[in-house]
Amino acid sequence: VMHGLSLERNPIEILETGRSISDIIDGKIRQLYLVGSEEPFYVVNLDNILERHLQWISLLPRVKPFYAVKCNNTTAVLKMLSALDTGFDCASKAEIELALSLGVKPDDIIYAHTTKPLSHIRYACAHRVNLMTFDNEEELLKISHVHPQAKLVIRIAVDDSKSMVRLSPKFGARLPTVRQLLGRAIELNLEVVGVSFHVGSGCTRSSAFRQAIEDARRVFDVASVLGFQMRLLDIGGGFSKIGDFQEKFKEFSEVINGSLDEFFPPVSGLEVIAEPGRYYVESAFTLAVNVIAKRVVVEDRANKCTDGAESCPERVMMYYINDGVYGSMSCITFDPLITSLQAVKKSEPRYCSVIWGPTCDSIDKITENYWIPELYVGDWLLVDNMGAYTVSVTTDFNSFEKAHIYTRCFYKNNKKILLFAGVNSSSFVFNMQVILIYSCCVLPYRQTFTD
Ligand code: PLP
Repeated sequence: VMHGLSLERNPIEILETGRSISDIIDGKIRQLYLVGSEEPFYVVNLDNILERHLQWISLLPRVKPFYAVKCNNTTAVLKMLSALDTGFDCASKAEIELALSLGVKPDDIIYAHTTKPLSHIRYACAHRVNLMTFDNEEELLKISHVHPQAKLVIRIAVDDSKSMVRLSPKFGARLPTVRQLLGRAIELNLEVVGVSFHVGSGCTRSSAFRQAIEDARRVFDVASVLGFQMRLLDIGGGFSKIGDFQEKFKEFSEVINGSLDEFFPPVSGLEVIAEPGRYYVESAFTLAVNVIAKRVVVEDRANKCTDGAESCPERVMMYYINDGVYGSMSCITFDPLITSLQAVKKSEPRYCSVIWGPTCDSIDKITENYWIPELYVGDWLLVDNMGAYTVSVTTDFNSFEKAHIYTRCFYKNNKKILLFAGVNSSSFVFNMQVILIYSCCVLPYRQTFTD
């Protein structure tokens, strides 16, 4: 694995046994302090990705993962996954270009977008990326013009009503339209090799997979009557393993394995793939942000601290941190930020607080009515589980510096990777980030600001 990572091209620090991600964060904060900087940064624990992969192959042995690049396109992550022999789900020309530039073979890429620009399809053709999805007739026409040799996968709409982020309102052919679409593919002399679906990101019900696999079986049957010999089933993404999902992945795997065996018995010679994004990267990234400003306001309404700690109801603390909704945290608009405090004593007085991002827009709010001890300018907050839909979704709004990414993995003297569970693995809450008030090295800096 380490060989595949090609260390010359990826600035990855390999840790000696005994050092932890917390040590790295601590050291980084001290380094920044010495050079007078407070830039936000990520620490990436690559071992976490390896651990997830090992779980995947043990629980879903029939399903080859094609990692969804859109979820987090950090080079070291892609290299790691490529070294682990996953495939890649790319959604655009630039994502295909990135994967190819890292040495990924065209056959290990699925261009999984059903409404593609013509020029991107042309690019895929020129680079021998043949496998691609469609769900409408116009797409078939475009593909027949510029990539007639493509191996097509029909994406169907499925019940995603129990998922955090629904995708089927936008993508996927309805079952009653499938026969006509496949008929059109025949007229255009196009080859349709399989079926795909996506149950929605952050899927909460394993039954969604069972229903979708059964729906896919129906499409296979329709296709077979029309003369296609389909050989690929793509069960999409939607997996997670944090918070309430911790146990669910096992349950999902059992349901998926059972449904595959029922509707596509192994003797059918079917290739099964998936497009997991969130699953692989969600807990590998920890974000460190700095409190850059603070306002104390007095509010009329009576605020209540919910967990019984001593509270000071009249003052509302407004903290401004240097990353937010227009940066790494746009995901909180669909993944509500549920937080739990670490490193805070029960007895410490708490204040009703609002945490804002750095931009001049009031939408840029990370959380409110948040009862925490008083923070000071210069304090650091750590946000755990920040790997999915964070670094790949940042904008340039207000031109604030984007969080730098530092990649780490653990390495034993005997050159074997040591698995590491992550910074706060015992304290994940429902599906979301954990905010850790980084008290262990905050105090010396507080001194500096309050002196
Ligand atoms: N595949 C497709 C087509 C998607 O649109 C997405 C997410 O939007 C994914 C895969 C990855 O989904 P997840 O991160 O939920 O695994």
